[in-house]
Amino acid sequence: MNEMTDAGATKLDRGKRCPICHHDRPMPKPSMNGFEMRACPRCRGRWAVCAVDDLPDYDADYDDGDHDVYQRYQRELRDILAGGQPPLYWFQQRQLDRITPFGRRRLLEIGCGNGMFLLAARRAGWEAEGLEASPKAAELARKISECPVLVATACGLPGEGPTYEVVSGFEVLEHVYDPLADLRAVIKRLVPGGMLTLSVPNDRSPRVRKPPDPEGRPPYHINFYQPQTLATVLADLGLELVWLYEKPFAWSESHPSVRVRCLMLPWLVLAGYCLGRKGSRLVAWARKPA
Ligand SMILES: [Zn+2]
Repeated sequence: MNEMTDAGATKLDRGKRCPICHHDRPMPKPSMNGFEMRACPRCRGRWAVCAVDDLPDYDADYDDGDHDVYQRYQRELRDILAGGQPPLYWFQQRQLDRITPFGRRRLLEIGCGNGMFLLAARRAGWEAEGLEASPKAAELARKISECPVLVATACGLPGEGPTYEVVSGFEVLEHVYDPLADLRAVIKRLVPGGMLTLSVPNDRSPRVRKPPDPEGRPPYHINFYQPQTLATVLADLGLELVWLYEKPFAWSESHPSVRVRCLMLPWLVLAGYCLGRKGSRLVAWARKPA
């Protein structure tokens, strides 16, 4: 089952095997953005058939003055340098609130982007470190967080090295070539009793299944997860699921103004609970057995 080389590359054939649980009987699905799609009858994951070389160069996000992501990162950097607080997703804040009493321990964030969560974790007393595949993002993350950041994918993390009480991956596993291999590599470095925390877009959300923006489609997002997908892979990895949360309906991410959202609320609740049109986020926490 170990399909990685020492350099962290993977030999996974995404045409023949589910990249999320490595089950080998994929079903064809309608293509997306010119990429063939497959679905897994075992874990209900969905994915794009692609090669490692098809993946985008994320360095461009940190190096292009006109790029939306670049503009946002520059704005966040200015705010931090002016003494502001790192902007966190609600689930990042929730994680931080939960782990803060146990601070002064080690935390690893995979796909740390521009380092905002690392900074928040360091300020909360954690010895935080990052992994980031984009060298330019890693440079920015070091500058912002003042934490060590290794330029590597999770697959490229050496098997031996420091161990961590917490490993986090926020909005990362939808982008990576072989998520199961990535998770295996980081779990090796989690201490017994340590916590893995993940967030991914929810494939039961209409906005994730039919993304309005190119960033939600292949080759950017290449893996699509349902609650069962995360539950299956975390159980396969021998972890105990502590919390699996699916946003119950598409409340805050579809409709811009509070007024429109309030008018839409009855429909959103009905569609969320009766038609399965869920919100666009999945969050999971799992513990490595002690
Ligand atoms: Zn699968």
